[in-house]
This record gives sequence, structure tokens and C-alpha cells, in this order.
Amino acid sequence: MIIVMEKSATQQMVDHVLQVVREHDLKPEPMYGTQRVAIGVIGEKTKLDEGKISRLPGVKEILLVSKPYKRVSREYQPEDTLVKVNGNVVFGGTKPVIIAGPCGVESEEQFRTIAEGVKKLGATMLRGGAFKPRTSPYAFQGLGEEGLKIMKKIGKEVGLSVVSECISVDHLDLFDKYVDMIQIGARNMQNFDLLTKVAKLGKPILLKRGMAATVEEFLFAAEYILNEGNKNVVLCERGIRTFEQSTRNILDLNSLALIKETSHLPVIADPSHAAGRYDLVTPLARAALAAGADGIIVEVHNKPDEALSDGKQSLTLESFAEFMTTAPQYHKHYE
Ligand code: PEP
Ligand code: MN
Repeated sequence: MIIVMEKSATQQMVDHVLQVVREHDLKPEPMYGTQRVAIGVIGEKTKLDEGKISRLPGVKEILLVSKPYKRVSREYQPEDTLVKVNGNVVFGGTKPVIIAGPCGVESEEQFRTIAEGVKKLGATMLRGGAFKPRTSPYAFQGLGEEGLKIMKKIGKEVGLSVVSECISVDHLDLFDKYVDMIQIGARNMQNFDLLTKVAKLGKPILLKRGMAATVEEFLFAAEYILNEGNKNVVLCERGIRTFEQSTRNILDLNSLALIKETSHLPVIADPSHAAGRYDLVTPLARAALAAGADGIIVEVHNKPDEALSDGKQSLTLESFAEFMTTAPQYHKHYE
């Protein structure tokens, strides 16, 4: 529910409405516009008598937010949210953000080669995993803190911000120290303890959709982060599981386009984990941008056949060059 105040409403009238909302065990969230004040009401709206509220002095009208999630919805905030990383990367703006890098950081030399390569080709941010959530406990688990240190060092060297996945609340201090943006992976999308604690760091968050999560569950996960006062959330469609077995996952562009309509948060796509094979990555990236994606996160490796994880879906630096000349122009604001 949003309570819209009259232009002429005084601060005293606003304070009174805030007090009445609080008395009903609900959380009022005043938004001070240039013309008037609107008060978002968070909680179970049945607790509030609309008729009574609309008769309070200074109240113009009451708008109902029909979506079960509130803060992430466009009903709550019609204009797009821009998420900035270090002031120079902007998600949701006039340029697509292209995040490129290996699935996992394997060594300083490997990460430097890839970072320098993708930077030269026009990537806007670097990705890399240091703590890898692997299906098999025998698979490469990442270099841990050493991997994060390498990312920070090389990111500085090449002049790109870095994003890496945090898989545990035990690592919050490390991520606070070493990375510019924190990824919450598909397998942790509904780890609510992790979501709320990562949110409190205040850093931008890249939230990936769970491989079996509905759009509503995805948006509720983002709502957990916004509820902690952190609005810097970028959503990522990374493919969902279906009956189809011929590719790793299915890039769900229905949901991407739908989320752009229903939420003000930026949305990017991950064609690498969706396809699971390198040859489909560039066409899927084009399709995602054409469907409204604000950017792409893509896996790139200097030697995919020797990669310790996800080599099959990684672009070579040569194929990333082709990606950069044929995909970004599908973004809605490309000139
Ligand atoms: C990744 O980005 O390397 C990753 C593990 O992604 P997801 O959580 O989407 O599987
Ligand atoms: Mn990967």
C-alpha cells in the first residue's frame, strides 16, 4: 500500500500518518518527492483500515500494490534503479554492462592474461570465482582467499571492478575487503541468512536466479536484500532447468522481459551457464539484450580446454572479440 499525501500536507500531518501506520505494527517508508510525500507501507495490509487512513488530514489517496513483493516492484517505484559499481560502471543505464572472466580464478598468470585480454576488447567488469559451489566435492573448489587477492590486484592493474561469488556467511569480511560487487549464486538464491547478511555490507549485489526458482521466488529473494536497506541489486537470469536435456539449462527470456516490466531493478543475463556450451553463448547474449537485458555476464578463458571448471562453455579471447563486435548493439540504447 502507498499512501499519497496532498501537496499541501504539512510535516505534522505526515508524521501523524507515520505514527498511525506504526501503531498497526506496520513499517512506514516515507518517500519525499519534489511535489509531495508518498508513504510506502510494508507488512500485512489487512491490518490497516483503508477508509480510516484516507480520512486522516493531508492524505490524498491510497494506492494498492498488488504484487506480493513490494520494494522491488515497479508499482512501488516506477522509475528504473541504476546500480553503480565504483561510480564508473552503471547497470540499468544507457550502455550494456559486459562482465567477462573465467569461471574460476586458477592462478595470477591465468587471471591476468584473461583480464588484460577482455579489458582490451571492451569488457566493463571482471568476473571470477574464488569459492566455487561445485556439484561434486572432488571438483576444483577455487583458490579461496588467494583467489580474491588475485582478483583485487589484477582488477586494479587493468582498471576494472571485480565481482565474485560469496557462498558462506563465514566469508563476509573477505568479500568486503577484496571485491567491488558480490555475487549470490543460483544455489544460494534462497539462503535467506546469507542474503540478509551480505545485504548489510552495503555493496552492490549480483543476485542469480535459482535454477528451479519461479520469478516470484526470485523477486522475493531480492526483496530480502532491499529490506535490509540495500537497493544496489542487479538480477541475473542464468538459465533454468526444464525437461529439455540437450543444453545445460534454458535461458528464460520470458522471465527476463517480464521482470523488466514488473521490477525497477536492472537485469542481466548469463548465457554461459544457460547454454553450457560456448557456441551458443553469443547468439543467446544477443537475444537477451534484444529482450531488454541491461548487460551480460560471460565466461572467458585463455585456454578453455585446460580450464579447471566450465571450460566447455567458456569463450576464448578470440571468440570474445567476436562477441564484443556482434552482441552489444542489441542493447536498447545502443547508438
Ligand atoms: C558462476 O557464475 O560461476 C556460477 C556458479 O553461476 P550459477 O550460480 O549461476 O550456477
Ligand atoms: Mn561457471
